[in-house]
Amino acid sequence: MGLIVHKYGGTSMGSTERIRNVARRVAKWARAGHRMVVVPSAMSGETNRLLALAKELAPSRTTSASQREQDQIAATGEQVSVGLLALALQAEGVDAVSYTGWQVPVLTDSQHTKARIQSIDGARVAADLAAGRVVIITGFQGIDGQGNVTTLGRGGSDTSAVAVAAALKADECLIYTDVDGVYTTDPRIVPEARRLRSVSFEEMLEMASLGSKVLQIRSVEFAGKYHVPTRVLSSFTDWDIPIEQEARSGTLITLEEDEEMEKAVVSGIAFTRDEAKITVVGVPDRPGIASLILGAVADANIDVDVIVQNVSHGGRTDFSFTVNRNDYARALELLRAGVLGSADATEVIGDPKICKVSIVGIGMRSHVGIAAKMFRTLAEEGINIQMVTTSEIKTSVVIDEKYMELAVRALHRAFELEQDPA
Ligand code: ADP
Ligand code: ASP
Ligand code: MG
Repeated sequence: MGLIVHKYGGTSMGSTERIRNVARRVAKWARAGHRMVVVPSAMSGETNRLLALAKELAPSRTTSASQREQDQIAATGEQVSVGLLALALQAEGVDAVSYTGWQVPVLTDSQHTKARIQSIDGARVAADLAAGRVVIITGFQGIDGQGNVTTLGRGGSDTSAVAVAAALKADECLIYTDVDGVYTTDPRIVPEARRLRSVSFEEMLEMASLGSKVLQIRSVEFAGKYHVPTRVLSSFTDWDIPIEQEARSGTLITLEEDEEMEKAVVSGIAFTRDEAKITVVGVPDRPGIASLILGAVADANIDVDVIVQNVSHGGRTDFSFTVNRNDYARALELLRAGVLGSADATEVIGDPKICKVSIVGIGMRSHVGIAAKMFRTLAEEGINIQMVTTSEIKTSVVIDEKYMELAVRALHRAFELEQDPA
């Protein structure tokens, strides 16, 4: 019998009826003799609702003081969830207790709205487990060294769950969600997408960082760093299916390549609409220009993703990069106000209606021509590629947002992802 962490997402916690189902499933595991820790998210839509309320009253420019209050507000969604789930378990006759992040405590840094977990004190939880209690811990939130409530960024409950599993040295972390595993791409966009029985940690890390929101990227980082066996599975199966069957379902994130691993060259396709493109036109082609432009952006705490600098003509060139769409207006404004003149550029233009589509696979290491096939497939659909970036196990393109679904479907077909690899 092991120590098991279950995580339930917003949809799985979406109503009192669903919470009752979660409680029954957890009770089944507890009655089988496992020591159980459960990390639920806020009920679906709740975090959005809370953040929308905050936005109504917030100043247009976010400050660290306003972000602190945003966390104070957003963290309440998970507090309600843990209390409800504890009540539902008690109603099932199971001894259960709930804790918020500060009660555990889950210590984070002070970067409000995107805090990182630094340590988790497992003592209180361990004592409850030893007393035979199911322990329910809020996802998404923690507390910093000064006693401020922090949140871990959208989708952060995945990270809470894997971090709790790592801290308690759990035998397994099961991430229950509204799909029955990790698919070759988002099954909402490509209905033919296929569930992967296992996916390597490296591929999952790329998929998550390139936009597959099935797992928050930091949860995958924790799983890799602390060797937490992590599985993504459905919360919508009947709660009373046999535990052995449930424990083998879904998708396992594997740390080592083994025979079980599928041997596809491309394993998955990820995409994101979260980015926007900015071009500084007609900059002199001389040392220091990239650092002048990107330095100004970095000073404003804006992350840059894809960067492209063109070959120069007549000593001038264009310099393009992408930023998160939320930072677009601010980045454009600061470059026009501060950098346009000092960089001696012609103009600063931008396009917030772009998207990034990426193919991911560890097989790309040992196969040539994969990027070429990607570009050919997009060309056949008449899709213009605006930017490209590659690494050992992924190729990403930036394209017009209106072609996103077309591109994902065409690539899924071209790389035969709907078929089981032999
Ligand atoms: P939860 O509320 O349980 O955390 P999320 O909405 O955060 O659930 O993540 C699950 C969703 O991720 C799915 O409903 C699916 O639309 C989306 N998704 C994106 N990419 C993938 C993928 N490759 N495999 C499975 N689901 C994916
Ligand atoms: N409730 C938070 C969110 O909506 C955290 C999570 O669901 O993982 O982002
Ligand atoms: Mg999620």
